[in-house]
Amino acid sequence: MVISIASGKGGTGKTTVACGLASVINNCVYIDCDVEEPNGHILLKPKITLEESSYKIIPKINNDLCNFCNKCTEVCEFNALLNFKTEIYLIDELCHSCGACTYFCPQKAITEVRKENGKIRIGETSNNILFYDAYLKVGEASAAPLIKKVKNAYKGDRPIIIDSPPGTSCSMLEAVKDSDFCVLVTESTPFGLNDLKLAMNVLRQINIPYGIVINKYDENFSLLDEYIQNNRLNLLLKIPFRMDIAESYSKGKLPIETVKDYKTMMVDLLEKIKKEVIEKVYA
Ligand code: SF4
Ligand code: SF4
Repeated sequence: MVISIASGKGGTGKTTVACGLASVINNCVYIDCDVEEPNGHILLKPKITLEESSYKIIPKINNDLCNFCNKCTEVCEFNALLNFKTEIYLIDELCHSCGACTYFCPQKAITEVRKENGKIRIGETSNNILFYDAYLKVGEASAAPLIKKVKNAYKGDRPIIIDSPPGTSCSMLEAVKDSDFCVLVTESTPFGLNDLKLAMNVLRQINIPYGIVINKYDENFSLLDEYIQNNRLNLLLKIPFRMDIAESYSKGKLPIETVKDYKTMMVDLLEKIKKEVIEKVYA
């Protein structure tokens, strides 16, 4: 079972929910895919046992073989290749390692080489969560190849929690794709509501079942409740906007360890997700 935790915007408390859920699943694997700013380690405090460089594949153009036909620049969806007439120039930070340019080059003028794009770390927490995270190299514009790498680093069959990057860009898409279920974390604010709609739209397009968690729930902001009710959305949990919860994560502590009823909230959330996964995926 692969459960992704995503959010249309940053700051909703996505990682707190992801770490809380991971903590109530036996023998869970937690993968922090927010490679530009991974912070799951602050709450889960794993003992890191391995750190290694990650590489992405980029094209290398042999300009002596090239006839400057432009095929590669046309097929590159990310504008990473420029034709200067005497040289095909690669902006390697923009390359998503899709391999299309190599595949379509009629002159066989392109080969593939490795380039370091970040670090991957593996560890384990005191309560047996197998922990993965990754750090994108400074200056690297494309997070998707590293997200793919850290997701694929675990090969076993333990339940997996994917902590997605915030937003709805290709980084989020790379993180949540192939999930059995996605938990969308939002908050009781106009921005929370707007970005929830954007994130839902992405998940619908890639056909991933999802449910909603409202974090920092504020009953005075009724627009979010009305939107969820009117559209019959799958509301999984409301986490109240409370001082004890905020204090816990602001001190780098998992609310599940310090706040009395938080564990019950996470266990209830897990039960609802299991039901959804069994009904929607394995039915
Ligand atoms: S597709 Fe190959 S031959 Fe054509 S411009 Fe690109 S590198 Fe050169
Ligand atoms: S591998 Fe893909 S993204 Fe990278 S330069 Fe070639 S076509 Fe563009």
